[in-house]
Amino acid sequence: MDNSDIVIVGAGHGGAQCAIALRQNGFAGRITVIGREPEYPYERPPLSKDYFARAKSFERLYIRPPGFWAEKDISFRLGTEVVEVDAEARSLILSDGETLGYGTLVWATGGDPRRLTCAGSELAGVHSVRTRADCDLLMAELDAGAARIVVIGGGYIGLEAAAILSKRDLAVTLLEAQTRVLARVAGEELSDFYQREHRDHGVDLRLGVTVDCLEGDGTRVTGVRTEDGTVIPADAVIVGIGIIPAVAPLIRAGARGTNGVEVDAYCRTSLPHIYAIGDCAAFACDYAGGQVMRVESVQNAHDMAACVAKAICGDAKPYKAFPWFWSNQFDLKLQTAGINVGYDRTILRGDPATRAFSVAYLKDGRVIALDCVNMMKDYVQGRKLVEVGVCPNPARLADVNVPLKELAGD
Ligand code: FAD
Repeated sequence: MDNSDIVIVGAGHGGAQCAIALRQNGFAGRITVIGREPEYPYERPPLSKDYFARAKSFERLYIRPPGFWAEKDISFRLGTEVVEVDAEARSLILSDGETLGYGTLVWATGGDPRRLTCAGSELAGVHSVRTRADCDLLMAELDAGAARIVVIGGGYIGLEAAAILSKRDLAVTLLEAQTRVLARVAGEELSDFYQREHRDHGVDLRLGVTVDCLEGDGTRVTGVRTEDGTVIPADAVIVGIGIIPAVAPLIRAGARGTNGVEVDAYCRTSLPHIYAIGDCAAFACDYAGGQVMRVESVQNAHDMAACVAKAICGDAKPYKAFPWFWSNQFDLKLQTAGINVGYDRTILRGDPATRAFSVAYLKDGRVIALDCVNMMKDYVQGRKLVEVGVCPNPARLADVNVPLKELAGD
């Protein structure tokens, strides 16, 4: 049996960053990273942005050039996945049947795209956007002439994909089951704004629409039937309805968790010598009033990775990183600071019609989060308000002529 001091499962943002941070912290032991995808770690956000728009080649997505890993003596097993964990024996079984031993295990497996469960969901032409392979397949179908695209799901990934597609000469329909897009993550002001933008850019956006089934010709998808019986013709369908944390082997091994795997303040799972980080890890989030939740962002994956690397190197500190996120649609850059869980009031700064504005989320008068659209200054200055939990004067907060840094002392 091959043995490593550290085995990192998942060669995505968190896994890569953990290996990098271990070396940066002076860890000299053996590190092996196991990744289901065949590629060295690459950035996932461009899959629905620059890469999908063909503005960036895949080589520009690498988190580090492939040669970096050998230079740092970090071994990779790519194109294979961990199927079983034995926490007592400190060993793993890979999908190719091999067994690996570990001193410490870092679980960084992200999530698998949630699939539709209705009839027709297995047809060719039905896509998720999670991996390079997903994206390449979709792009190949567009090149081959797919012209009528239905996007199911009005979250960030569905909206970003629709924004890119709308720039091409394609008929794009976006279906959202809720009465507004981004309902899970943003306030009504932001939803209204993006709904208008998408419609102005030619996206046929339909809200409150539930999918009944996908229709096909026996092999490929040909349309989406909604619950009211409408059939929207489709050459390709993109499903962006969230992820399911990829934690099954760890849960089978006895780790605690329902939605993902639970970790404590140091990113430790309930199993000895096993940490979990990134999209798959559920933790009590200080910036969400201590609510146990998973956070799906590059920031969270990177910062949890750094926290675990430090702990392994003997400098354990609780995970307390400030949450931030971004989304690019059309020429709009959204930057969010904080987490708006439990907000009881929103305050709009600026006029959305100018396409540059911010939304502040308040709870009991304190600013807990900000969404800033083409408002870099608000984002940079507003982070402090969220970090400190400032209770600003609402009228001043709403006045776009008052710089947010002036409210920091309120
Ligand atoms: P991942 O980066 O997903 O890596 C997990 C890896 O583990 C995957 O390669 C997976 O195949 C592998 N794996 C799974 N199970 C196993 C197993 N059993 N054995 C071995 N390997 C396994 N975040 C932002 O902050 N801003 C954005 O704009 C943004 N845009 C996004 C756009 C898209 C299209 C997507 C898909 C995500 C986006 N995100 C964005 C989210 C961000 O990419 C994720 O939060 C981040 O990748 C999480 O890192 P991770 O290491 O937890 O998981």
